[in-house]
Amino acid sequence: MTSDRGPGHRIDLHAHSTASDGTLSPAELVRAAADVGLDVVAITDHDTTAGWAPAVAALPAGLRLVRGAELSCRWFGADPPVPLHLLAYLFDPDDPELVAELARVRAAREVRGERIVDLLRADGIDVDWAEILTGAGGGTVGRPHIAQALIRAGLVATTTEAFGPDWLGERYRLPKEDIDVFHAVRLVRAAGGVPVFAHPRATRRGRVVPDELIAELAAVGLAGLEADHEDHSPEERAHVRGLAAELGLFFTGSSDFHGTHKTVRLGAFTTSPEAYERIVAGAGRVTGIASG
Ligand code: AMP
Ligand code: FE
Ligand code: FE
Ligand code: ZN
Repeated sequence: MTSDRGPGHRIDLHAHSTASDGTLSPAELVRAAADVGLDVVAITDHDTTAGWAPAVAALPAGLRLVRGAELSCRWFGADPPVPLHLLAYLFDPDDPELVAELARVRAAREVRGERIVDLLRADGIDVDWAEILTGAGGGTVGRPHIAQALIRAGLVATTTEAFGPDWLGERYRLPKEDIDVFHAVRLVRAAGGVPVFAHPRATRRGRVVPDELIAELAAVGLAGLEADHEDHSPEERAHVRGLAAELGLFFTGSSDFHGTHKTVRLGAFTTSPEAYERIVAGAGRVTGIASG
């Protein structure tokens, strides 16, 4: 894989399924990946590996699946602390410390989701927590599931509107119990995985961390930066690529596909074969790639 064109080179390393806040099941996700002509797709649900097995079982011929997750993290070096997302690839899903940490984060998400619903209900907004949990279908619950309840209630028209300041973006936003980002990088590495900072410059999502923090994370094992992402402007993408080069990290591009919960298409952004090879080479035990 040396050219950036042709078969074998369509690589999307960030996609969500119903195991978290996407709308395609893991099986539907891998079929959709094949349908749009991807050669490699990563399943990266929030704080869970529950989608891995059904995705592997449904893998179409010719498609490679990179097993991953997107960890809810926080940098405590700012006041208030900054939430951020860490992509983790090819880690051991049975690593006890990581398993415990992900279970803790998922449980805390349920408490937080119910508290957000309590806040909405206290203001006379008729949303039902049991119904929202059912809507999440056993997957990691998040604000997109609450957004669907607001849409069902006719209070907002779109997920984007539900994430506005009057709703889940600010007024009814509560923090999650995230993992300290330094701890997360070490945990992923200890589990044989490769950590990549997701959309690190997405100023349109809120506060971002300084480049100095990214340099500190690189020193403790961060491997790559997600540069090409819909939440980055062209300038932000260029900045992230430059920072990656400066720090000796690779950079990725990916769709962060969420089905109908977002408008971005699967495969809208892609990763170079060189970066993909660095992920494969960086994994401790390459049990995380399945070939269809
Ligand atoms: P949570 O993990 O519960 O804090 O919710 C964050 C998730 O909501 C992200 O992973 C995205 O999938 C989604 N999200 C965040 N901001 C937006 C937005 N402006 N529009 C649509 N979805 C969003
Ligand atoms: Fe999400
Ligand atoms: Fe993310
Ligand atoms: Zn994501």
